[in-house]
Formats: sequence, C-alpha cells, structure tokens
Amino acid sequence: MTKLEQLKERLAVISDLNGATAVLGWDQQTYMPPGGAAARAEQLATLGRLAHESLISDEIGALLEGASAEATGSDGDSEETCLLRVVRRDYEKACKVPPALVAEIARATSLGMEVWVQARKESNFSLFQPAFQKIVDLQRQLAHCLGFEESPYDALLDQYEPGMRKSELVRIFSELEAGLVPLVQSISERIDRVDDGLLRQTYSEAAQWEFGLEAARCLGYDFQRGRQDKSVHPFTTSFSVNDVRITTRVDQQFLPTALFGTLHECGHALYEQGISQELERSPLASGASLGIHESQSRLWENLVGRSRGFWKFFFPRLQQSFPKNLHDVSLESFYRAINRVEPSLIRVEADEVTYNLHVLLRFNLESALVEGRLALADLPEAWNASMKALLGVTPPDDARGVLQDVHWSNGLIGYFPTYSLGNVLSVQLFERVKAEIPRLAAPSEGGNFTALLDWLRQHIHQHGRKFLPSQLVERATGSALQAAPYLRYLREKYSEIYL
Ligand code: ZN
Repeated sequence: MTKLEQLKERLAVISDLNGATAVLGWDQQTYMPPGGAAARAEQLATLGRLAHESLISDEIGALLEGASAEATGSDGDSEETCLLRVVRRDYEKACKVPPALVAEIARATSLGMEVWVQARKESNFSLFQPAFQKIVDLQRQLAHCLGFEESPYDALLDQYEPGMRKSELVRIFSELEAGLVPLVQSISERIDRVDDGLLRQTYSEAAQWEFGLEAARCLGYDFQRGRQDKSVHPFTTSFSVNDVRITTRVDQQFLPTALFGTLHECGHALYEQGISQELERSPLASGASLGIHESQSRLWENLVGRSRGFWKFFFPRLQQSFPKNLHDVSLESFYRAINRVEPSLIRVEADEVTYNLHVLLRFNLESALVEGRLALADLPEAWNASMKALLGVTPPDDARGVLQDVHWSNGLIGYFPTYSLGNVLSVQLFERVKAEIPRLAAPSEGGNFTALLDWLRQHIHQHGRKFLPSQLVERATGSALQAAPYLRYLREKYSEIYL
C-alpha cells in the first residue's frame, strides 16, 4: 500500500468517528429524552477526543510526509493534492493547540452557556460578564496558538472561513454599510406600505409540514438520502453524502417560520448531498466554509424562495393547502408580505435588507474585544449605540440587545461574519447562473430547478472542501467576492416594493 492509501484509511476512520458524533448530535436535538443529556455529553466528548487524538497522532504526521513525497509533481487541482493540502492544514492547526487549552475552552464555554441562559432570562449582562471575560481571554490565547499576521481576529475567523482576513471583511462591510444604512432609512419612512398580517393567522401545522416537504422535493432534496424532523432550532447535519438530514420548527401563528426555514436548511442539504461520492469518508466530504454553506441556504431561501417567479408557480399550491387563510389573497399581496422590511432588535427575525447590519454590529464589537480595543464592561452600551446608528432602534434591555445570541457564550467568535459572506456570495453566484442560463431569469421557470441545481452542483457542491473559499468563488464566478451585486439586488428589489 502507498503512503497515500494508508493515510486515506486513517482519515476514513476519523471520518467515521465524526459521522457517529453527528448522529448523536442529531438525536440529541430531535428525539433524545431529557434524561439522556448527561450520558450523551460524555459520549460526544469521548468521540470528539478520539477523533482529535487520531488526527494529531505521529502516524498521521509521518503518513502526510510520505504521501506528500509520493505526490510531488501531480496536478494542483487533483483530489490527492487537495486532500493533502487540507489534511496538512487541519493537522497543523490541531497540533498547534495544547490539549490543556482545548479542555479549558470546553469548560469555560459549557459554564458560559449556562450563565448566559440565566443572564438572558434576567436580562442582566453583568451576570454574564465574568464568564464571558474568561471566554474572550481564552479565545485570544487560542488565536496566539494558531498564529496570525495582522490581527488575532484573523486566526479565529480562519476556523470558520479558511483564508479570510479581517481586513477583507472591513472592506466588504464598509461597502455594505454605505449602501444599506440609507436604504433602510428610506424604507423606514415608508414602513406601512407593506402589511404582513396575512402571514400572522392560524396555519395548520400538518399542512405546513406537508407543504414544506413538497417544496423541498421540488428543489431537488433527495429523500432517499435525507429526511426532515422537528427541532427547537432548525439545522442541517450530514453523516455521509448519502444521509443528509434537515430539521425545522413550525409556528402555527406565523407561516414564514417553517416555510423559509425549510427552504434555508434545504439549501444547506442540497450542498451536502451534491458533494462528489468519490470524497465520501474523507475530510473533503463537507462544505468549503460556513460562508460558502450559507450562500447556498440563502440562495434557495431568498433569491429563489422570496421571488415572484417562485410564487407564480407555488402560490396556487399554497392556496390549496390553506384555502381558509389564502383564498382571497392575491399573489402580489403575498409576495409583498413575505418581503416586508422593518428595522428590529433581533437578528434572527431580521429581513434581507436589515440582516447584514446586525452582523456588521457583531463583527465590529467582537473584533474590538479580541484586539483589546473594547472593554467588556462597555459592551452593552457600545451595542446599543451601534443599533441606534445602524438601524435606528434602541434595545430596551440586555435580553433584546447584547445577550440575544448564544454564539459568544459558546466561544464562537469570528463566526457571525460568515452569515454576511453567504448573503453577499449568494447574489454573486445567482447573477452568474442567470448570465450563463438566461432562461433562469424568466419567472415562468417556477417549479423546475434542475438547471439551477445542476449548475451549483458542477461549480460548488461536487468539490466539497477541495478548494479554499476564495478559489471556489473565483472559479465559479470569475472574480473575487464582491458586495456590489448584492447591494444592487437589494436596491432594485426593494425600491420596487417600497419606493
Ligand atoms: Zn444557515
């Protein structure tokens, strides 16, 4: 056996451990009874430790050396070369972090989550502050272990968006800010032009569930290799290219929750189901980054799912599913209702136009914390001032302000910006698809998504982690990541609705 073959065998074992971890995680959030929590935490920790130890073993290090020597001179885009590059990256990163720090971060974040739940309940940031301080300090230590050139924030960001830099984010976000703030202001002055009351009636849970399944099937989600279940927070998880699952939640009083939640998760799942079978049981068999992943979910949720063309086809079907609610509603009223914009306090409830300003705020604050430019004691005030400046609203309390998201308590710093990267990229990709396949621009295309899905499969999905996000974007669209198409899209769409 060659060194490469031996390495692949080792990596397949690690991939099995990670797959089993994902099954346990899925079960935990869907069907596990509450009593199972303590044992499940142990099981997950054990599998996680085994996978980590296998990766940083001397054996993997030696096989990597040997396989690289065998591979000299082979094509830079070949599966082998990409595999070696990705594994070397993962291996070196994992080796740089001392196990003691990993353990300390695990402890601090599990305590952090607990304290955060209580602090949010009482809407009191000062309760959370000491635990959060510990988390920020540990994340800074982690950044120093991982190494960086410009900012410690780069090292943290790189875990979720390989190759991305803070300086690049500053460029993209300042373009977004310059375009979005005035757009939000002018929409705010005309807020009552769109009413979404029709979405806030009682919609049968069973019919919502059925409609979501039908829509997912039309988009191309393969139920032979997936399924949908209920969970408190919707998510997508993959145990294998051939077993990719989504979850959703249903709100009987608000139609968009399940509907767009399903389309969103379905977008993530189409990506995972589209990864080449050849990459199965290897570290290449997952998405290239969180930003690329989010570009897929947002593309299906917003560019497809909130478009007129989509509803020209689906609205009559939706009316059949909910005759009492929708029989006398016009397609146009429905289209406007699902695209209502309103500056609000809560990120997860935000619309397409205001969403990225919520992310920008978190990026500014968390990078300032990591770089030591902002003291934690001043965070709530900085949060509120930023909300006022960007969105024109002021949180009445910490629960609806600085304490609303779970991410920071979980040690996820450098994660938020990937949401915006996904939004921005979704439009860049979609414009490219429409340029290459002109009939996709025509609204009559509703109901058949094969051409779109095929394009995404060919340019994004099949490659898994073979390429860095920036390479993937360049190969798929012919240019680097750009905010301009996204801003143009929002301006055109929402000017027509509001202005
Ligand atoms: Zn998502």
